Amino acid sequence: MTGGMPEVDRAAASRAAVAARQARAQIKQSVRGSERTALDVAETAWRDGTRPEAGLRVPELLGAMRGLGPARVADVLDRLRISPVKRLGGLGPQQRDRLREWLRARVSVPGRGRLVVLAGPTAVGKGTVAGYIREHHPDVLLSVSATTRAPRPGEHDGVHYYFVDDEAFDGMIERGELLEWATVHNASRYGTPRPPVDAALDAGRSVLLEIDLQGARQVRAAMPEALLVFLLPPNWEELVRRLVGRGTESPEEQSRRLDTARVELAAQDEFDELVVNDDVRRAAQEVVDLLAVPSGGARPAGRAGSAR
Ligand code: 5GP
Repeated sequence: MTGGMPEVDRAAASRAAVAARQARAQIKQSVRGSERTALDVAETAWRDGTRPEAGLRVPELLGAMRGLGPARVADVLDRLRISPVKRLGGLGPQQRDRLREWLRARVSVPGRGRLVVLAGPTAVGKGTVAGYIREHHPDVLLSVSATTRAPRPGEHDGVHYYFVDDEAFDGMIERGELLEWATVHNASRYGTPRPPVDAALDAGRSVLLEIDLQGARQVRAAMPEALLVFLLPPNWEELVRRLVGRGTESPEEQSRRLDTARVELAAQDEFDELVVNDDVRRAAQEVVDLLAVPSGGARPAGRAGSAR
């Protein structure tokens, strides 16, 4: 509705708008293809406000990053207190600082392993997928949790869990030795010992945590660079079968479990990647692929948009 604009100016303006849109599409593509990091795009925009990067809306940049669906993007923007209509060039200094810090945490550091959290609803088969990885991919460190529950037949201390009593668990919390911990199923406490995780990551080894949703949220807060993977059942009916299949629970217990599963499934939007557990081997391979540190890491700036 630019009523007063002469015809020629309007044509030129619309050509410029098309070119800018194309440049922005190309930038997003280079982020999607890991040719450029989102951090590099943002820094370029902030160095020079006339670059096409500056015209990119923040949700478009985040949406081009691996594993960030619309729901996660909205969540991140909310936390960074950035309106979804904002363009990179239009962010205030504090918004830039917050976004820069968040983006930095997500750039994989060369030489450092990757931390992946595997979570999902009860009975989706997290333990089976993790067990498969433990057996077939010894290069991955599968973190051994501490728990206050008693060992089951066939479980070994130090292999499946560190079985500890309440007092020992309290001690670990007090000494700050746990990366995260939670009471699971209103029963026992479970937690991830932090020192082995840090040591492995520093040594360039990737680490897998198979923990519950509460724990996954704590890891996200403590280590924003962690990749959160949500394991999904092939469909709802299959999850119901796995949950109540044995038929040993009362109808009340069954319906309680289904309610829990519904709530747990709703958490998938908070995750970076979704993996469907239709076949244990395939799902495990997908998780192992996500654990791989990208070769070369972040490429130097300027490759995709070298106007200079
Ligand atoms: P289970 O007792 O059947 O081995 O495990 C019960 C639940 O505890 C599973 O959902 C598992 O993911 C979770 N879990 C195991 N280790 C940890 C941990 O270190 N932290 C948290 N938050 N959950 C854990």
